[in-house]
Amino acid sequence: MQREMIFFAVRFFTMSISANIQQLRGVLPTKVTLVAVSKTHPIERIQEAYDAGQRVFGENKVQEWLDKKDQLPSDIQWHLIGHLQSNKVKYVVGQVALIHSVDRWSVLEALQLQAAKLDVHQAILLQVFIAQEETKFGWDEGELERVFSRFENHEFSHLNICGFMGMATNTDDTAIVRAEFRRLNKLFHKWRERWPGLDILSMGMSSDWQLAVDEGSNMIRVGSSIFGSR
Ligand SMILES: *Cc1c(COP(=O)(O)O)cnc(C)c1O
Repeated sequence: MQREMIFFAVRFFTMSISANIQQLRGVLPTKVTLVAVSKTHPIERIQEAYDAGQRVFGENKVQEWLDKKDQLPSDIQWHLIGHLQSNKVKYVVGQVALIHSVDRWSVLEALQLQAAKLDVHQAILLQVFIAQEETKFGWDEGELERVFSRFENHEFSHLNICGFMGMATNTDDTAIVRAEFRRLNKLFHKWRERWPGLDILSMGMSSDWQLAVDEGSNMIRVGSSIFGSR
């Protein structure tokens, strides 16, 4: 009995990256995009995920991403998911497929300046504050109103708002997490009536993506369930 348990444990912890991806794909509805969050993991492991067919990857630090990206296939769609500093904006505009973490005015303005300078359109998500923790970044509902007004006023002509991103409170209480995702989904549908370009609702990570998908997410950001713990 004990030996079987050890075998099971060894098998579980040595599940390959490709097996983890296949398993996730097997259960995810097809409309849900899987962003493989590769932060802190070396290029060999990212390549392994790529070889398993994964093409969308998320990194949270600009410098780390710059160090890795040139050593990896050029058809990877990179998503920036981490808090972005205005002075790093010049490295990412026109280079990443999507920025999930646009969470304040200074970043919006810096992104617009750089995108206009390069004459590109940068796809972004607005990070919306839904958690109970003060540590999570994002816009609140009143601020969203002002963001969209300024977009309607054509002040951010080179940015495409494609949707919302949110992070739930880090808690085992699934009722809290579910309620936060549900609230974001409601906001998403409300704003979509006014701004039809909103297509992406990025919510859910390794610990809570099932709840997020249940509550309407169509893009999940999964790191440790694919690559193991950091
Ligand atoms: C690290 C990170 C994730 C992935 O977290 P896991 O728990 O490893 O799945 C998702 N979203 C953001 C913004 C992150 O920084």
